[in-house]
Amino acid sequence: QVGDPFVLVIFGATGDLTARMLMPALTALCAGGHLPDNFVVLGASRTDLNDDSFRERMHAAATEFGSLPPGLWETLAPRLRYLQVHYDDPASFTALAAALDALAAAESLGGNRIFYLAVPPTAYEAIAINLANAGLAEETNGYARLVIEKPFGHDLQTARVLEAALHTRFSEHQIFRIDHYLAKETVQNILMLRFANAIFEPLWNRRYIDYVSILAAESIGVEHRASYYDHFGVLRDMFQNHMMQLLSLCAIEPPSLFEADLVRDEKTKVFRALRPFNPKALAEHCVLGQYASGMAGGSRAPAYLDEAGVPGDSTTPTFAAMRVHLDNWRWQGVPFYLISGKRLAEKRTEIAVQFKPVPFSMFRDLFGDTIQANRLILRIQPDEQVSLTFQAKAPGPMCLRSVTMNFNYYQGYQGAALTAYAKVLLDCMLGDQTLFWRQDGVELCWKFLTPVLDNPPADGLYLYRSGSWGPQEAGKYLRAHGLVS
Ligand code: NAP
Repeated sequence: QVGDPFVLVIFGATGDLTARMLMPALTALCAGGHLPDNFVVLGASRTDLNDDSFRERMHAAATEFGSLPPGLWETLAPRLRYLQVHYDDPASFTALAAALDALAAAESLGGNRIFYLAVPPTAYEAIAINLANAGLAEETNGYARLVIEKPFGHDLQTARVLEAALHTRFSEHQIFRIDHYLAKETVQNILMLRFANAIFEPLWNRRYIDYVSILAAESIGVEHRASYYDHFGVLRDMFQNHMMQLLSLCAIEPPSLFEADLVRDEKTKVFRALRPFNPKALAEHCVLGQYASGMAGGSRAPAYLDEAGVPGDSTTPTFAAMRVHLDNWRWQGVPFYLISGKRLAEKRTEIAVQFKPVPFSMFRDLFGDTIQANRLILRIQPDEQVSLTFQAKAPGPMCLRSVTMNFNYYQGYQGAALTAYAKVLLDCMLGDQTLFWRQDGVELCWKFLTPVLDNPPADGLYLYRSGSWGPQEAGKYLRAHGLVS
């Protein structure tokens, strides 16, 4: 799919996100023929650069973090432009409006504009206000879309304040709140698997499912983002967004059409069904941890508190495990276990759907009463696959064994896949909001997490060894349920 001509204005184009994610995504879209003939990417940041020095930076980024097939740079480079702007200076935005008009006329770009806020969230409000005051939120000659990155606020209250600032200037259909997890191929596959097959959906409920476990484990620590991370921690960085989205995809009812608002309506119903935590018994539902030193990737890894940029007395959690319930007909009594942390034993994101055991075993005289129940694993990263474990007879004497049927996501597929950032950029150009957060969902998830954010469990923060599966309590659970070895 190729959209109409556009200008993509990237605020904060000198930063990490632009270099590591946006530039490789743009080169991939260009290489895949997903961009129209006429488009311009305008870097707009405070740093004093010109078109050439901006191109040099972007060339370095595209080479280091993406891939540049022969000849691609020659196509892309002339499309990259730069304008120095100061985010809180109205005059910068008047100049930006004039530059956009001039570019549109010179390059036959029409009036479509995407404003990507690749800046720290503290700058969102000023940019949105200045854009609107310069007339750049109007959609008279084409679309005007505002793309913002998580975190969408720091808690419910700040999320609402941010929203009020954005919404007085931009309408909901103009705001694209990115959660790049949603654009991962295998995350999108969850809805295909559930609703494009007849065999799963009849079993996908409390009658047949024992529990659902969603694990997002990272083996790395905070790396170079310590100052950001220490302010947010795992609950805000992973749970308020990615984990809640994975939960909603596992739990939603089928919408009548795969269309942005219908899908998001169903997700909102899931978020509304989240059973509120009992603040007096939080420890029964939630374990928080912080990594201590240990071994990671074969070498010694420092404790979180010893990472550069982390205050020595920080109580920011880098690990959380939660038991969550949905109060609705389909999911009554089925726990959802959400587990995510940094510096864990391996990088792995997967959803395990654990089915109930058979109600009665006719093989009890042969194998005893226990027959391992079926499990469906949706592996999201690093190796994308779907696997179903079931029981089969072992060859030879009467004997039962567990076997696994595996589907590798790229098996039999020759075409090129789109990275998550390439997909969200493309959807933004096409105006498809299906994979983007809607404000009602953002607020419901903040509201749900507020008791844990405001009053973490009284027994506090468990330390866990880097390279382990988290605090003992959680590691024990993961092992006992066969989710890790
Ligand atoms: P960053 O590198 O810290 O900052 C991006 C650019 O913003 C900087 O190059 C700088 O450009 C400008 N900037 C820095 N501090 C600023 C401040 N206090 N006020 C105004 N402008 C400032 O940020 P990033 O890692 O690219 O992230 C950008 C956004 O994406 C953030 O909202 C972040 O939470 C989100 N995000 C990032 C990642 C990632 O992997 N990096 C992943 C998910 C979400 P100039 O000085 O040239 O203006």
